[in-house]
Amino acid sequence: MINLNEKIAIITGASRGIGAATATLFAKAGARGLVINYHKDKTAAENVASRCKDLGAEVLLVRADVAIPASVKKMFDKTLERFGAVDILVANAGIWKEAAIETMTEQEWCETIDINLKSIYACCQCAARVMTAQQRGTMILISSTAGQRGEALHSHYAASKGAIISLTKSLAAELGARGITVNCVAPGWVATDMAGAALNDKKTLRKIRDLIPLGRIATPEEIAGPILFLASDLAAHINGEILNVNGGMVLCG
Ligand code: NAP
Repeated sequence: MINLNEKIAIITGASRGIGAATATLFAKAGARGLVINYHKDKTAAENVASRCKDLGAEVLLVRADVAIPASVKKMFDKTLERFGAVDILVANAGIWKEAAIETMTEQEWCETIDINLKSIYACCQCAARVMTAQQRGTMILISSTAGQRGEALHSHYAASKGAIISLTKSLAAELGARGITVNCVAPGWVATDMAGAALNDKKTLRKIRDLIPLGRIATPEEIAGPILFLASDLAAHINGEILNVNGGMVLCG
């Protein structure tokens, strides 16, 4: 049933974790062109690219720091040059670092806000320009449960993820009339490198599992599935929605 029907998608932070799983699933679902963005891990990104090619997608590998708007613009320019369109944006790249508010430096604050939030402004601006010209397109922004309930020792992260939720609703209202939808996926705990430090500690893992009604941590593929649904034509009338994928840990909507 779900088919991306030859669409072109840009996925930021696609070298590892949720982004890599999303790129692979999009290739399986019939995307024609995939832009695999990465920042530091070229080898991992190349592996994802080769998996997607084996599944029949054309791939453009783009190294870009999404915290720098000019680099994001270059990534969109390269995409248009290669594929001529951007049908789907998955703004996924992010970092999660620990810092207590009393000692958090301005640099720590800005690093998280720039990579997690300024990147979304930059990606959505470029996508809005292209999609307005096309009069079609969809954006899926990746937030977190932290953006809805806060997170001790990660206030900068939670603030960036909360802002992504209000940005989703604002852009859905602003761009809908042009045939553009903007939605958000908010994962809970996912087994990726990002959560590795917490999940590799047995005591912490047990505590986290106890908070999740399903009793387990999500796989990256279990987040990629809902992202694919929102990217597909099956979700054509969904706009401004926050899709929680957290095993029932945080019940909100
Ligand atoms: P991950 O495994 O740590 O992967 C992060 C990805 O982001 C990598 O591909 C990395 O690229 C890329 N990235 C980091 N900084 C970048 C930058 N400045 N420019 C471009 N790419 C950059 O993380 P993940 O768990 O898959 O997380 C993906 C998204 O889901 C994030 O937005 C995260 O906040 C959100 N999320 C995750 C969880 C969780 O439990 N894992 C929970 C809720 C929300 P390189 O490797 O090339 O540097």
